Amino acid sequence: MPIAAIGLGSNQGDAVANVQRAIERLREVGKVTAVSRLYRSAPYGVREQPDFINAAVLLDTSLPPRALLQKLQAIEKDLGRRPTYRWGPRVIDADILYYDEARIDEPDLVVPHPGIQQRQFVLAPLADIDSRYADQLRSGYTAESGECTPLMLEERDDLAVRLRRLAKTFDETDLISLRVSDEAGNAIELHRAARGGVEGAQRESPELSDGKRESASVDVIKANLVGIAHLVKPVPAVGAQLEGDRELGYVEALGIRNPVVARGAGRLVSVLVDDGQAVEYGQPLFEIARVP
Ligand code: ATP
Ligand code: CA
Ligand code: CA
Repeated sequence: MPIAAIGLGSNQGDAVANVQRAIERLREVGKVTAVSRLYRSAPYGVREQPDFINAAVLLDTSLPPRALLQKLQAIEKDLGRRPTYRWGPRVIDADILYYDEARIDEPDLVVPHPGIQQRQFVLAPLADIDSRYADQLRSGYTAESGECTPLMLEERDDLAVRLRRLAKTFDETDLISLRVSDEAGNAIELHRAARGGVEGAQRESPELSDGKRESASVDVIKANLVGIAHLVKPVPAVGAQLEGDRELGYVEALGIRNPVVARGAGRLVSVLVDDGQAVEYGQPLFEIARVP
């Protein structure tokens, strides 16, 4: 089947969600075989408008180019695009960047899209999914467009951002617990961890088996979000000597893997969490003795 590359952009409403919705809709048009990262880009042409979110997708499709363009325009309309002006703000823009090796030059359809080379916001996502463009991106484009950078993971997931903000707010108050629920009855509860200390704070040293107190201070690594804890394999053994930075596990929240990393040298004195255990914000996960 022919492979088409589709470029997507949005800068109105929830732009990330609009681009993600468009990608979902493209699955009706063909087989989506690759999706780029999401990028934030400075507006092109008309500068006084919000930043754009851009992405590119490879689509295996049996639709010929013109029918594909019509389908893209129908998706744009369904997602709420209303006519403005060229390069003006839009809920969604979906362009055919290329269609196999096809060369089309008609008043309402030009393929490959003439803007590819000049626009970093087209080239950068395209390079994620088509290595031929990675070379072009490296060798430099004729920069008509400004900054274009991949979105941080947390910027992509609005819910994760809100959850993290909520947890931070909670941590800054004296509340003991906080429950948030939606209309469907889904709820999350945050509880202040019973065991105190700020991450990295010094605590009283743990008692050693011979009854003496270790002179080292102990760092407590705590969960910095609500999620499921996973330990790295092999599971870090208590007593293990940690040299440099080492990943001890990760907390999975809303499908995102958030590494838990021990920084610097020390000795692992306790693993306070089981693999696969649900953890709350501020819950201690590991204790590490630091030799002064
Ligand atoms: P640009 O084409 O410079 O990115 P734009 O995306 O802002 O500008 P639109 O207003 O979305 O422009 O589209 C204008 C017209 O461009 C469409 O009606 C469509 O017929 C035409 N067009 C030509 N070539 C393409 C292509 N490869 N993909 C999508 N639309 C195209
Ligand atoms: Ca466009
Ligand atoms: Ca367009």
